Amino acid sequence: MKKLIALVLVMAMLMSLSACGSSSNEGSNPNGLKTVKSGTLTMGTNAYFPPYEYYEGDKIVGIDAEIAQAVADKLGLELKIEDMEFDSIITAVTTGKVDMGLAGMTVTEERKQNVNFSDSYATGVQAIIVKEDSPIKTADDLANAKMIAVQLGTTGDIYCKDDFGEDHVDEYNRGNDAVMALVSDKVDAVVIDNEPAKSYVAANEGLKILDTEYVKEEYAAAISKDNDGLREAINKALSELKADGTLDKIINKYVKADEAE
Ligand code: GLN
Repeated sequence: MKKLIALVLVMAMLMSLSACGSSSNEGSNPNGLKTVKSGTLTMGTNAYFPPYEYYEGDKIVGIDAEIAQAVADKLGLELKIEDMEFDSIITAVTTGKVDMGLAGMTVTEERKQNVNFSDSYATGVQAIIVKEDSPIKTADDLANAKMIAVQLGTTGDIYCKDDFGEDHVDEYNRGNDAVMALVSDKVDAVVIDNEPAKSYVAANEGLKILDTEYVKEEYAAAISKDNDGLREAINKALSELKADGTLDKIINKYVKADEAE
């Protein structure tokens, strides 16, 4: 009888051990960090947001891609970038598909309910793009716009719906599609982050950015609330990269120094 009880106990222990192993899809790394895949830092982004992330051939490049690479090097991990719609990035972080969202993502109180943010590594501004001859000259004039194009799920989307009403906001998956709606006169203005705004205006005739800041914001990496170890390691890496000038060097490579915010 004692033997039987012992056997049952051993089996129960084995079962709980294996359950424990299979319930965690996380990899562990020599440095003690937990990541989705061992040896890899997986980043979720939306690679249609120049100069932070965009395709050069089939490679994703840009400020965020280079910062992520520098951080991964410091953590001794390989960088893997997963391209997805901007609107899916937070869910990818909370469901453990990626280790961090790095996507010119603004720190907001609402997002903080679902994810933790690293320290901020850059500032952004919500800019307003209009046609060169537009009657819209200030952020307040947006109240007269029949339709404003934004990128779905971005802060520009949230602010415009709050300030001007859902009926006046058209949401597009990609910033470029929002800009195309303006080019073809489907909308009167686009609200989008200032650096992508500059590249879209440079790439399309007859557009300009209003000389007014709609909203100023901070960009940071979104990390799972269950992985504070990774958040601390990323913050340490970012502060070292700030201190030794690497962050500035990366940002200045993509943003001309005289126009840097
Ligand atoms: N900064 C904006 C936001 O966080 C837009 C980011 C993006 O489109 N990649 O909502």
